[in-house]
Amino acid sequence: MILLDRVTKTYGKAAKPAINRVSLHIEPKEFVILVGTSGAGKSTLLKLLTREEKPSSGKIVVGGIDYDNLKDKHIPLLRRKIGVVFQDFKLLPQRTVYENVAFALEIAGMTNREIKATVPKVIELVGLAGKEKSFPRQLSGGERQRVAIARAIVRQPKILIADEPTGNLDPRHSWDIVKLLEKINRYGTTVLLTTHNVEIVNKLKRRVITLEHGKITSDQVSGSYKQ
Ligand code: ADP
Repeated sequence: MILLDRVTKTYGKAAKPAINRVSLHIEPKEFVILVGTSGAGKSTLLKLLTREEKPSSGKIVVGGIDYDNLKDKHIPLLRRKIGVVFQDFKLLPQRTVYENVAFALEIAGMTNREIKATVPKVIELVGLAGKEKSFPRQLSGGERQRVAIARAIVRQPKILIADEPTGNLDPRHSWDIVKLLEKINRYGTTVLLTTHNVEIVNKLKRRVITLEHGKITSDQVSGSYKQ
């Protein structure tokens, strides 16, 4: 599903690469946690996957798409395969829960009929039935993150990238969000989660990839993980 072969990314004239000859294979339907201290290269790695950044060298293949052959016109197809959620939710404040989720389908050119059939199902899946008409400011942090997750999965991506999704949440809401990610993973989506939360990492018992100074220093199932 995700394949990196000796990928290096050096920004501009930086002395050291942000990602340094990283090779990685993530299978379809895996749930992988990416950890590492600030500056380790996690965001860079995620940006390479979403094609916000291009590698300086090395090969990237995601969902059968070889990035070497990726033309700009194929980027929408790629973005369809990868849903992303962030620490700060990035919701549209003037739009309701329903509209925030529907917007992702509108810009994809879906008909109103399709949108009406799809959005309520996804809102239900993330546990927000009854909140369709609420605005983001009327929701808790955990609920806002659920909206962001609904928006990220509404086009049924093969991969969901969750970049510090619990960074702004208290422990209870954090764990609810992690459980939701696991549920989405059970439905068949590959999940790539970055987190600083050691408790979540240890509780999950999932594959944990540790980045340090742009290199993978550990790749193992959690439990033995310490920070
Ligand atoms: P993390 O997400 O693990 O905190 P980053 O991928 O953001 O790590 O950063 C890795 C390294 O790359 C850091 O040294 C950071 O300063 C550098 N870096 C990140 N983004 C840029 C950029 N746009 N331009 C130049 N250097 C960058």
